[in-house]
Amino acid sequence: MKCQSLTDFKKPLTSETRPDPTVSGTEVLLRVTANGICHSDLHIREGSYNLGQGRTLSFGDRGLKLPLVMGHEPTGRVLALGPDAGEVDTSKDYVIYPWQGCGDCFQCNMGRENYCASPQYLGLNVDGGYADTIKIPHPRYLFDMGTLSPEIAAPLACSGLTTFSALKKVEDTIKEAPVVIIGAGGLGLMAIGLVQAMGGLAPVVVDLDPAKRKAALAAGAAQAIDGAADDAVAQVQAAVGGPALAAIDLVGAESSAGLAFDAVGKGGKIVMVGLFGGAASWPLPLIPVKAVTILGSYVGSLKEFGELMALAVDGKVPALPTQTHELEKASELLDQLEEGKIIGRAVLVP
Ligand SMILES: [Zn+2]
Ligand SMILES: [Zn+2]
Repeated sequence: MKCQSLTDFKKPLTSETRPDPTVSGTEVLLRVTANGICHSDLHIREGSYNLGQGRTLSFGDRGLKLPLVMGHEPTGRVLALGPDAGEVDTSKDYVIYPWQGCGDCFQCNMGRENYCASPQYLGLNVDGGYADTIKIPHPRYLFDMGTLSPEIAAPLACSGLTTFSALKKVEDTIKEAPVVIIGAGGLGLMAIGLVQAMGGLAPVVVDLDPAKRKAALAAGAAQAIDGAADDAVAQVQAAVGGPALAAIDLVGAESSAGLAFDAVGKGGKIVMVGLFGGAASWPLPLIPVKAVTILGSYVGSLKEFGELMALAVDGKVPALPTQTHELEKASELLDQLEEGKIIGRAVLVP
């Protein structure tokens, strides 16, 4: 098998040829048909997150072992099945749920594999989709993708699921008042379409970049507001029709988290999704006074992925603009992503 492997943090990937993996038990071996390059792959390559106040979270200290084949947005076609894997249609492509747990802890037993304390996430804890071949432990992680092409289906495993799970956390409010979406990059555009697929009102979107605000309006946002404006909070609340019931921060910077906090009203919910970095400066007394709920949302559960894929197969999930590239271009594409030069999603097609 061929793969692009991270052998040192902060360094370009290495092209490797390895022996083809074999399968046993319930394992499934797949030929990778597409794999999206996610912004969080940059953090993995860097080896850390910025936690603000001079602190960092190091992946190495948290047990991430190198060399690692990154890639957590894979689709594939079955090459081989272990003797206990059961019947799987080998003639079609599947999108692979990457947020796999140990399968044996209380989180996993509750259906929250994505919160497992011994995660086996593809492309983070075990080798992922920057390769032409991938092995997974069980066929239950394979999802039907209908008539979607691999490059359109692949990003649903992370960017699609992350957005969907965040919206599910405020689903009770999105029909009552427009949800505020902060950040109109790939996730933001996905969120605008998903809100509508879930029956919500057209969202109010905030972004610093005029081009992204324009894209948000074209995707169906009710209004798109410049987060850098002095009166950004007032503009958001005017667009919502009052203090917001829910805000989703897809950026995760100090400024965006501050805006989310100020924009929501009593009983409001803030869902933190973005991993830009920094620390929050929320006034603590206002958390009880506003009775605000601050939720983190990290990817999504296997059940949520099933719900998302059902919507996607029905054609209700907007496709991100994607460009496909050869596997060998992975390092170069990560550099371009870091420099902000990728529009939509870059997808590797080995
Ligand atoms: Zn991702
Ligand atoms: Zn577990």
